[in-house]
Amino acid sequence: MSEAQAIAERLQSIRARIDAAHERRGPRQSPAPRLIGVSKRQPLARLAAAYAAGLREFGENYAQELRDKLSDWQPGDVNWHYIGALQTNKLKYLVGKTALIHTVDRPELIAAIDQRAARAQVIQPFLIEVGLAGEQQKPGAPPERVAELLDACAQTEHGAARCVGLMVIPPAAVDPEQSRPWFRELRRLRDSLSAGPLRANVDLRELSMGMSADFEVAIEEGATLVRVGTAIFGER
Ligand SMILES: *Cc1c(COP(=O)(O)O)cnc(C)c1O
Repeated sequence: MSEAQAIAERLQSIRARIDAAHERRGPRQSPAPRLIGVSKRQPLARLAAAYAAGLREFGENYAQELRDKLSDWQPGDVNWHYIGALQTNKLKYLVGKTALIHTVDRPELIAAIDQRAARAQVIQPFLIEVGLAGEQQKPGAPPERVAELLDACAQTEHGAARCVGLMVIPPAAVDPEQSRPWFRELRRLRDSLSAGPLRANVDLRELSMGMSADFEVAIEEGATLVRVGTAIFGER
């Protein structure tokens, strides 16, 4: 079997597993989850194979790698997601070029996104990455600071940064069930924040959670975006 065929088959089986997990959750409870193919450190031939098999959402972790892929490959109708570590000096590669930035965890990033998006005359959607486990040296805003970040989003100078949800990377686990409490906690945090005051430029409809090893559990807990890399593209 060619590599392209293998990618197409893996995509098909992941889509079936996504549908089944969504069914278990109860489809009326949540919108159909969207699959993001995480293509960091994967050659363009593999992205093109996934595209040919219908994938339209791609996730990248490195801003310069994303820039290079955008200049070398222009299928036109792809949504790019940025899921890597974020610094303000990376934003020039991301704002106006990505459908969604998943990893905002500090107020200065929101202000910088707003500035760049206003200059480019776009609205830039983003997610707040939440550090639920309180792991040292790991990215993610502490859960008790998320409301402040939403306030910062509601009060930007230009109103050009829009928070559309939350994202989490749970601690590494051997069993996907170990991730379930973190996914559940992210959903609860979202639900409690959504029940709070209405804020301009904030609508927490997306929950970005679940990777190759645990995306089904994440969907059972309400994920709207799953980020799947190796299970589609193979080892990096
Ligand atoms: C690499 C990465 C993924 C994909 O991981 P796989 O285990 O290959 O599915 C998902 N989310 C983030 C934030 C990542 O960095």
